[in-house]
Amino acid sequence: MAETLTSATNGPDDGAPFRSRLSFDLDVDICVVGAGLAGLTVALEAARLGASVAVLEGRHVGWNASGNQLGTVMPGYSLPIGELIERVGLEDARELWSLSKQGADYIRSVANEEAMPGIALSEGALEVSNVDAGETLISRLQTLSEDFETEVEGWQVDRVRDRIRTGRYFHGIYYPRAFQIDGRKYVHGLAALARKAGARIFEDTPVVSIDPSGIRKRIVTPSARLRASHIVLAGNIHLGTPLRRLSETLLPVWRYAAVTEPLGERLADAITFSGSVSDSDGVDHFRIVDGDRLMWASPETTWDARPRRFGPAIQQRIATVFPNLGKVAISEIFGGAVGVTVHGMPQIGQLRKGLWVASGFGRQGLNTSAMAGQLIARSILWGDERWRLFSPFELVWAGGTTGRVAGHLIGMWGRGRAAAAGALARYREGARAKERIREARVAEANRQAGTRLPPRRRPPPGEPRPQPPAPAEMQETPLAASQESERIRDGSV
Ligand SMILES: Cc1cc2nc3c(=O)[nH]c(=O)nc-3n(C[C@H](O)[C@H](O)[C@H](O)COP(=O)(O)OP(=O)(O)OC[C@H]3O[C@@H](n4cnc5c(N)ncnc54)[C@H](O)[C@@H]3O)c2cc1C
Repeated sequence: MAETLTSATNGPDDGAPFRSRLSFDLDVDICVVGAGLAGLTVALEAARLGASVAVLEGRHVGWNASGNQLGTVMPGYSLPIGELIERVGLEDARELWSLSKQGADYIRSVANEEAMPGIALSEGALEVSNVDAGETLISRLQTLSEDFETEVEGWQVDRVRDRIRTGRYFHGIYYPRAFQIDGRKYVHGLAALARKAGARIFEDTPVVSIDPSGIRKRIVTPSARLRASHIVLAGNIHLGTPLRRLSETLLPVWRYAAVTEPLGERLADAITFSGSVSDSDGVDHFRIVDGDRLMWASPETTWDARPRRFGPAIQQRIATVFPNLGKVAISEIFGGAVGVTVHGMPQIGQLRKGLWVASGFGRQGLNTSAMAGQLIARSILWGDERWRLFSPFELVWAGGTTGRVAGHLIGMWGRGRAAAAGALARYREGARAKERIREARVAEANRQAGTRLPPRRRPPPGEPRPQPPAPAEMQETPLAASQESERIRDGSV
């Protein structure tokens, strides 16, 4: 799914051994469908705990989102923390959050302890606010640090803008324990570790049907059949015929990203923050890679499109956020489909005895898929029942084609609205600054004029009194806001 415009930084198959297709019948303890991050973590953990494991992958390891992501590892879920508390109450929300942190820790320990070559681990992630909403930030900081025991720092506007030189961002939440890795290297490293632990991975082997009844379940591929005590469905949105109703509980969202050509000093002048930056509206997500390139994810569709189409949109987006960088040359564009659930939480659990699902990780799939892999392997082999914390988040039909259209419109509306709010906040900030300068000039002029100011004339009866000027933000229409939201809505940004 990666397209290289000039020279690629990494190929999608980096480090992958030759592909082996399953061409003989096999009996195993656990059959995993899908060699993305979720399936491979289940395989690694289950094999380490002593199970015989076969992973069946229709294309190749990391073919979809898992091999085409930005590698930012943070605690939490796609569902915002406040909504998580509303949904399950504080106690369960805390447990779920703690599991999500364990998922991030798992990735760190696998990447570090196993010394994955070229994994390029770097520390810290910053979530920046597109609107001037300091109070909301403080309340989130309190929730995260006090109730959810997560290390976070609140950054004031000046500090954010000192590191990320754009007027588009206001406050920020810094996560010192978040980190980033080379996502492609990680997924192939995970496959290598799973193989080393004894799991067998078969590529070019799509699962076309399953029969989950009975103690020994049957799995059919075009060239062979398997029998297993447990099947783990980790096929994300592409699962298809084996359990179409499960695929239909996910809204597929294709997300596209690009890596620029080296930008040299220009980039250092614009960004001095070495971790990931994501905005609070979920529109932009970027970080510096290879010293002076920018890796940037932004456009999304609810249909499968060629990533190359989105190069100009990403260039435009970078120039909008960092006008000083101007139009940057792109060296590689890639994308993948994420499965978004109706409730925003992943699908983790047992559908019926021996039939498991690990899916729906949305835009935050690194820590959550790692957590899912551990939970499911430990439940199968040790009887760990913590996956039940996800039971309140049932499998909800995502609405089929109508759901995709609705999802697209809601996404566009949300992004357009968010962009408008951001532009309005920036406009207000600019207007406030102008007003402060104007007031200072007036005060200075008054000071210089001293007592020479003419005495105020009271208007004669019947003459209208002069009105004080309107507050700065009401004097002009926030045109920039409406123009920008229009451009995002029609896909030109
Ligand atoms: C551009 C982009 C940037 C992202 N950045 C981040 C980030 O920085 N941090 C983060 O946390 N998350 C990020 N994500 C999200 C994250 O990548 C995904 O949530 C995660 O990779 C999902 O993993 P998965 O294993 O569930 O699915 P997938 O990666 O889709 O893997 C599923 C696999 O199953 C296979 N399969 C499906 N059906 C069958 C079948 N019937 N038979 C055999 N095989 C089958 C598919 O071929 C596929 O390889 C990003 C996603 C994208 C697209």
